[in-house]
Amino acid sequence: MSKEQLECSFCGRNKSDTNLLIAGLDAHICDRCIEQAHGIVLEDTTVEQPAVTNAELELRKPKAIKTFLDEYIIGQDFTKRVMSVAVYNHYKRLLQKDTDDDVEIQKSNIMMVGQTGTGKTLIAKTIARMLNVPLAIVDATVLTEAGYVGEDVESILTRLLQAADYDLEKAQTGIVFIDEVDKIARKSDNPSITRDVSGEGVQQGLLKLLEGTVVNVPPKGGRKHPDQKFIEVNTENILFIAGGAFDGIEKVIQKRMNMQAVGFSASMSNDGVVEKDNLLQYIIPKDIKDYGMIPEIIGRLPVLTYMDPLDAKTLRAILTEPKNAIIKQYKKLFEMDDIAFSITDEALTFIVERAIEYKLGARGLRSLCEAILTDAMFDMPGGDQKELEVSKDYAESKLNKNAIQKLKAVS
Ligand code: ADP
Repeated sequence: MSKEQLECSFCGRNKSDTNLLIAGLDAHICDRCIEQAHGIVLEDTTVEQPAVTNAELELRKPKAIKTFLDEYIIGQDFTKRVMSVAVYNHYKRLLQKDTDDDVEIQKSNIMMVGQTGTGKTLIAKTIARMLNVPLAIVDATVLTEAGYVGEDVESILTRLLQAADYDLEKAQTGIVFIDEVDKIARKSDNPSITRDVSGEGVQQGLLKLLEGTVVNVPPKGGRKHPDQKFIEVNTENILFIAGGAFDGIEKVIQKRMNMQAVGFSASMSNDGVVEKDNLLQYIIPKDIKDYGMIPEIIGRLPVLTYMDPLDAKTLRAILTEPKNAIIKQYKKLFEMDDIAFSITDEALTFIVERAIEYKLGARGLRSLCEAILTDAMFDMPGGDQKELEVSKDYAESKLNKNAIQKLKAVS
């Protein structure tokens, strides 16, 4: 074929009628056809997109969610199972929006009851990380009824918007963790709480967020910016997780169980034995109501679960086992200075014993390690010593009474 006769194999245009003619093995294509083809490719991928989004939401199955949680959270098996199912169902619910039958799956907001430092926040954080959705952690104690000093309940959604970098769509499928929810229990039922502002009003305020409505949210939060434009946030697909220690709820549980035992058979658990040191495992929604939460709130947090107290074995495992365990973190820090770090079993036991003795809980483990290792972390980098083995004696020598007193004061 002579040069003049070259033509586009797609549209048949002669080379002289094109701006560009690209040669392939046995064919040619002109610039116009390239653009057209490119358009088709783009169109095709846009059509595909919803499928991609769905695929993203195509969640891990509950077992896989639990396996993920296992990597970061020690023990708490019951809660991890319950949460895996709740989270799975929540996101299934998002997917079913596209189907048109009338069965509407309701939200599976969660209530977690357990002493402080047992991993409630950690579970919420881990789930948010797994799902790659924004997470807002808010403290119920700062919330007040509108008109009082403190934060309005809407500020919860301000936090979520901030966590989502103001991407509204992302925020609307995010997770909100409301900590210390027990502190907004009704006062009359719970005389130990000395709040000026009735918790019940805050509970009422929370209700509308939990049930799923459109809320006007001040994007900058607070009442300091009266001129800002509100953003409408739909809470329908936001997963709410509430957590609280509910100090003293064991008494409520025990009272109910004793009463039941009088009227019915005494079998409280599967094997008929009541574990008195972990009464939380028998918790039912009525106990939460008797503690001072209003029934509507309880109804909107239908998944109820409890945290086991942390015993020595669990604390020990928390130090070394999770993917980002405290000891692994120190090892890495020292490694960055070419220092080989190790710690003996006796030293680990010593740390756990101190955490229990001084009631520091899991949170105290980090402070204890910090107190023991600060000297080494200050002195060793850049020095000649390239190895550090922390023995019980070493730990004991660094952790004098003074350091422990300080730890107790902050925890
Ligand atoms: P809570 O919210 O129940 O007060 P957190 O989740 O804030 O407790 O726990 C405090 C810290 O203690 C966490 O950051 C984590 O390091 C550690 N921790 C507590 N419980 C566990 C657990 N079950 N597994 C692993 N680490 C834990």
